[in-house]
Amino acid sequence: MTEPYPEFEINALRELSRKVGVDPLQVQAAGGNTSVKLGDRMWIKASGTCLADACDSDLFVPVQLDALRQALLVSDPRAEKSVDFVEQALNPNGLRPSIETTVHAVLPQNVVVHVHCVDTIALAVQTNGKALLQQLLASFNWLWVPYRRPGLPLSKYIASALTRGVDADVVVLGNHGLVVAADSVPLAEALLQRVRDAIKQPVKKSSPPVIETLSKLSKGSQYLPAEELATHAVAMDKASLSIAAGGSLYPDHVIFLGNGTTVANQGQAIDQIAKDNKGEKAELPLSIVVPEVGVLMHKEANDSQFALARCLSDVCRRVPDGAAINYLEPGQVHELLHWEAESYRQSLAQ
Ligand SMILES: [Zn+2]
Repeated sequence: MTEPYPEFEINALRELSRKVGVDPLQVQAAGGNTSVKLGDRMWIKASGTCLADACDSDLFVPVQLDALRQALLVSDPRAEKSVDFVEQALNPNGLRPSIETTVHAVLPQNVVVHVHCVDTIALAVQTNGKALLQQLLASFNWLWVPYRRPGLPLSKYIASALTRGVDADVVVLGNHGLVVAADSVPLAEALLQRVRDAIKQPVKKSSPPVIETLSKLSKGSQYLPAEELATHAVAMDKASLSIAAGGSLYPDHVIFLGNGTTVANQGQAIDQIAKDNKGEKAELPLSIVVPEVGVLMHKEANDSQFALARCLSDVCRRVPDGAAINYLEPGQVHELLHWEAESYRQSLAQ
């Protein structure tokens, strides 16, 4: 150990990380990340780990901040994964830093919290999302970032805005999520809460799923009704269903569930629907939405995939009927599905 472990700051960050990590309206699966800068060292959540576990296991990886920032300035490709800037002596588990490490590094504040808040995403997928947020966040120092692939492209955009003199402690990421930054953990927590209060969206009501019909439809197939009630909402409301059916809305949907959403046609056998809708990896879809009935999940779906299936309902229920949507473009989906850092994250997440 070169220096004493910064127990106090790290413990405060752990507490906040756990709190946001257990809330499915803020973080799903291994999504979201937090960090604290202490001098020249930034402790950041490890890739593929869950914020919900922050109090139970060592999730934070120490990164040499000045060296990483310098690498970013000179477009050193090693900045992308940031692994070469990890202080390995303080990283006994050999974890990789978050894929969004560079986003945390370019922000000057000591504490950075990034969440996939469903209210934020519901606004940030609308074509007029920036204008809507302009009204809701009028009293904040905030920056709108049009969709960029997480990691280096995103951090470069934020860095160039900061260089132009933008002063922001709230960053809304188009088709992605929310970042807040402050100089202490309590200040970051308070800012996050204020932003969430300001952008809270009404939730469309939906009728409960018809589990009996789902069970009948899926009998003998590779699928089972989704366990969590909230997951089914996307099937039960026409407007939500049409938003989901239109394409992919945000990166973690693509990473964990594949591109787009498979919707069942009436009268077609579930296994046939699954075969007809094989994804890019030639695997069966992980979820199938049955209109006005509910959502089926593949029997081998893991907790991360369940969490992202629920997230789709939580987001779509917060988008008003008739809203115009900005979907991820095919090229953007492709770059997410062929990104080594994301495959690594998904391989760790369960
Ligand atoms: Zn993110």
